[in-house]
Amino acid sequence: MKTQKSEELYQKAVKFMPGGVNSPVRAFGSVGRTPLFIERAKGSKIYDADGNEYIDYVCSWGPAILGHAHEEVVEEVRKAALDGLTYGAPTKKEIILTELISEIMPSMEMIRLVSSGTEAVMSAIRTARGYTKKDMIIKFRGCYHGHSDGLLVKAGSAALTQSVPDSAGVPASYTENTLIADYNDKASVSQLFERFKGKIAAVLVEPVAANMGVVLPEEDFLSYLREITYKEEALLIFDEVITGFRLGLGGAQAYFNIKPDLTTLGKIVGGGMPIGAYGGRRDIMQVVSPLGPVYQAGTLSGNPIATAAGIKTLEILKKNTFIYQELEVKAKLLADAYADRAAGKGEAIKVNQIGSLLSAFFTDKEVKDYNSAVSSDTGKYAAYFRTMLEQGIYVAPSQYEAMFVSAAHSEADLEKTCRIIREN
Ligand SMILES: *Cc1c(COP(=O)(O)O)cnc(C)c1O
Repeated sequence: MKTQKSEELYQKAVKFMPGGVNSPVRAFGSVGRTPLFIERAKGSKIYDADGNEYIDYVCSWGPAILGHAHEEVVEEVRKAALDGLTYGAPTKKEIILTELISEIMPSMEMIRLVSSGTEAVMSAIRTARGYTKKDMIIKFRGCYHGHSDGLLVKAGSAALTQSVPDSAGVPASYTENTLIADYNDKASVSQLFERFKGKIAAVLVEPVAANMGVVLPEEDFLSYLREITYKEEALLIFDEVITGFRLGLGGAQAYFNIKPDLTTLGKIVGGGMPIGAYGGRRDIMQVVSPLGPVYQAGTLSGNPIATAAGIKTLEILKKNTFIYQELEVKAKLLADAYADRAAGKGEAIKVNQIGSLLSAFFTDKEVKDYNSAVSSDTGKYAAYFRTMLEQGIYVAPSQYEAMFVSAAHSEADLEKTCRIIREN
């Protein structure tokens, strides 16, 4: 594998951008190599600056569920661009997209479009606080909700204490209203509600955790969160930035049949362009400005190019829901290949898979929360990553990210990938 051009680009990139990248995971730091610079992508394949071709299971971290550069989506983007890139005024396309989202996810009665998942979650929390007039929120150790100050919270050792910031530059006072519970641990949630009675505005959760690797909710975990939030008059926020339109058309809320009060979206909803969205119960969303007192705004919010890509992507998914059965079948093939590899080599591997999301953890523990996720041998993951890459398979450059399957992955792609998983 030749990577000379990527290496040259990297040498130049580090002069102008911290670490040579615009988002840290792209730097390949945890897998012990320098990043590949990507030149183009089409369907299931991604191509680097040296002309190497890879079968891509990162899929831009989720958006590319239809595969890269889907012709109909690209055509809509091209057409939209000719009509002007941004106006800072309302458009019909924003109505079409929000109506479409609301049809697909009926819990989202009213919606605000923003430009990223980070913005969506940050704003949903502000809305929950404004509505409930309470300040505290509960999040789960190992769940990621974007990089806003109050959510960059360290997975500290004591399960039930107020948290300290995870990043330099975040004053401790910014995270003092963020409480940390353990994923799949109902008692850790009820204890926080007892201790901070009447002060908790919302419980924020990735209904399927996909940012500590993929971790599935246990049988009654999500329904428990629904119950306790009703009882304690707090809101339930599903962060469906990954799971929305991926676990099934209706996301995790349809899959598990649980209705959150607020939902956040990103990734697929923009079809590869920058969009985030938050929304939910009408009476809650009516507190958002200009209707209500919770301020939130954006110069490029509801951008006409991005909404065009989002509308086309959701329309295609809605018309072709068989895609979701196919994605599940493909993801199962990959999960089986990891199980075969583990059996064949006597290697400790645990695979978590649901829909088109999966993770292979290099551990012999069941992975059901943050502590079990971090029991994975990241050195082994790094070695596995490098071998996969050399054989033309592009998986996440970190143990703690999901593997994403797209509609564009062909039988041949999967056969090749499964063979390489088993053999290497
Ligand atoms: C990616 C992600 C975010 C942040 O979205 P950005 O568009 O990267 O800001 C928030 N929540 C979850 C669950 C995510 O996976």
